[in-house]
Amino acid sequence: MIDQLSEIERTGLEALEAVQNEAELEAWRVAHLGRNSGLMQVFSKFGQLSKEEKPVVGARANEVKKAFENGLAAKAEAMKQAALKRTLSQEQLDVTLPGRRIPLGRLHPDTQTLRELYRVFGEMGFQVFRSREVESDEYNFQLLNFQIGHPARDMQDTYFIEAEGRGDNPIVLRTHTSPGQIHAMRWISSMNPDNPPPVRIVLPGMCYRYEQVTNRHETQFDQLEGLAVGPGITFSDLKGTLADFARRMFGQNTRTRFRASYFPFTEPSAEFDVECFLCGGRGCNVCKGSGWLEIGGCGMVHPVVLRNGGYAPERYSGFAFGLGPQRMTMLRHKIDDIRYFFQNDLRFLEQF
Ligand SMILES: [Zn+2]
Repeated sequence: MIDQLSEIERTGLEALEAVQNEAELEAWRVAHLGRNSGLMQVFSKFGQLSKEEKPVVGARANEVKKAFENGLAAKAEAMKQAALKRTLSQEQLDVTLPGRRIPLGRLHPDTQTLRELYRVFGEMGFQVFRSREVESDEYNFQLLNFQIGHPARDMQDTYFIEAEGRGDNPIVLRTHTSPGQIHAMRWISSMNPDNPPPVRIVLPGMCYRYEQVTNRHETQFDQLEGLAVGPGITFSDLKGTLADFARRMFGQNTRTRFRASYFPFTEPSAEFDVECFLCGGRGCNVCKGSGWLEIGGCGMVHPVVLRNGGYAPERYSGFAFGLGPQRMTMLRHKIDDIRYFFQNDLRFLEQF
């Protein structure tokens, strides 16, 4: 039996020498260490041996098994090293090739303008207040002094979500960010109903109107409203705030002007223009030669709106204003078509 083991060892190691690749190595492993190999057959006959033979044959059999296992591991390692050597010599790396650039995302131009607005108004003490885009008629119109049948509603062609069984209070997509004024005032005044804290917020967000889509009009657009409520706030606070905003946003020498206007939720109301920042007021094709750009609307919060928000108009007053961030972005970058904002065309977006 000892002679048989020596023969198994000799032929096994010889065969291992001849192995050239991984497939052959695996075949060798099955043939010489597998269940049907000569070595394993010796192990299986172990029980038939005499008491004296067992330790001698056992030790020798384990020796052969160890030799096979070590040989296998050494061969596998040698083959791995050879493969690596081959790869290194054959596949040369050109370190002078330029790297692959990882595409970087960027902020949408509209978002850039919004963040700039948050920064400017943040410096002036205004906090951002967000509210829902799906509203009731009550919040979108009625509480803002747009009574049912009010002609000013015709200016805001509305998407209705649900009307059935809701009478005069259908669900709508908000046509402006102003319903947030009521939400904000009610929330802040509820903190101390007898003596409501002052309000100083900006309300950004998407609004929806059923518009004929053209290069100037989209069915969805951004607004940014401002609202300040407190004791003794006057129209000169409004003018000062917006003049200060224009200087921070468009440059220290930017002039502003106000023109009388009408909105149901403010009284008195005004349109708010800034001196054209493209031509410095001399007149160009963007400002149509006037030297001024329309930026938004503003006014003193109507007493009805104050009361609906939980602020007694006898003790409190306030101002509100609304800006169009997309219009500002268009003016800034001379974008001539508002539809670019939502087309997700990289040729447009990569310019910002
Ligand atoms: Zn101009």
